[in-house]
Amino acid sequence: MDKIVIVGGGECGARAAFALREMGFDGVITMIGAEPHFPYERPPLSKSGLAGPPRYVANPERYEEEKIDILVGVPAEAIDRQAKQVRLSDGRTLFYDKLLLATGARPRSLPGLSDRSSGRIRMLRSLGDAGAIRKALAPGKTLAVIGGGFIGLEIAATARNLGAEVILLERSPRVLSRGVPGEIAEVIAERHRQGGVKIMCGEQIASVVDGSDEAQILLANGATERADLVVVGIGAVPNVELAEAAGLLIDNGIAVDGTLRTSDPDIFAAGDCCSFPLSLYGNRRVRLEAWRNAQDQGTAAAANLLGRGEGFAGVPWFWSDQYELTLQIAGLFDDAATTVRRSLDERAFILFHLDGEGRLIAASGVGPGNAVARDIRLAEMLIAARRRLDPAALACSKTNLKKLLAA
Ligand code: NAP
Repeated sequence: MDKIVIVGGGECGARAAFALREMGFDGVITMIGAEPHFPYERPPLSKSGLAGPPRYVANPERYEEEKIDILVGVPAEAIDRQAKQVRLSDGRTLFYDKLLLATGARPRSLPGLSDRSSGRIRMLRSLGDAGAIRKALAPGKTLAVIGGGFIGLEIAATARNLGAEVILLERSPRVLSRGVPGEIAEVIAERHRQGGVKIMCGEQIASVVDGSDEAQILLANGATERADLVVVGIGAVPNVELAEAAGLLIDNGIAVDGTLRTSDPDIFAAGDCCSFPLSLYGNRRVRLEAWRNAQDQGTAAAANLLGRGEGFAGVPWFWSDQYELTLQIAGLFDDAATTVRRSLDERAFILFHLDGEGRLIAASGVGPGNAVARDIRLAEMLIAARRRLDPAALACSKTNLKKLLAA
């Protein structure tokens, strides 16, 4: 095999490219990125890195050192599976022996949005989006955030730190309704309220009008909220169009098997764009939009592009920083799970979630700084070990989780 093409210039694609070299592949690697930047880290964009310079996945010169051909600002437009070629927006075609799709996801758009030409209504995904949002935020300006998920809450905290007034509108009865236990979501919501964010849950947006000197958000109950800037963070949709047009199987993302292989044996997919069977959870098909998953799947895809056929068995993990608080979740939280609470100190606690057989399936925690990091790391190992655990032992803050792991 001589040529591997990676479509996607984000975290996942870059990790895969470097992993291929680490694993000894000495053929041609070509990476294609739609954005006009070398691969950069997205997590800082909604946090303190909103206005900062990009934090690159690797220094740009490393691609040259590793002989990774990287083409940025040239989206891939089509895949010809018979000819094994990818056609780029500038008309070039690239031949591949094996292809990796790491095309990521894009923000979901809000129905009822008026023309966005004045730039008052924005979404946050790219470096360009972050720069534009930062420019519009200043003390005294009002930001309206639509969506109480990770993007919405992180940008709300960042905007408060910059002195802006913030209103947050969420349609569910609470924030972080997807995959975060209510008790933890409430700690986060309360911290935002203390920080001066006006959180409004259960609000349906009828339309958003982008006026000449303010944006107006019309709510289904007839009320209107006004803002200098609106950031919409209502979820992400996987970029599957290229794969779909090429006839690959799609199922809430590009469908891959346990080795990240698509319905074409020469094409793999990884990261936010793909759904895969999660072995630790009875092969339930999931799509994970998370930084760690993008890294891990990039590395796993590299091994399998080289024919190793390794099953991917990562434990989902993600974190969020808001003000001085960090929230971390390992595993897949399920409302039906038995939950056991472990207090670490006055402001930090962990919730352990056990299935009907007493196996740990998820752990979620919140606290200042790194307060929950160690226990969540150990919980992650306990989840992977599929060990049955005594709820009372988990709840007791004196129980050493390392010992439970070794037992
Ligand atoms: P998200 O976490 O899925 O949250 C979207 C939120 O918007 C949900 O609470 C959803 O409520 C709400 N919503 C949906 N439609 C709405 C509407 N019409 N009006 C008001 N609220 C509405 O997605 P996100 O915050 O937009 O983040 C986008 C992507 O970036 C995700 O992949 C996310 O994982 C990633 N990200 C991750 C982090 C992190 O891990 N720390 C940080 C930033 C971004 P319902 O549940 O009712 O639909």
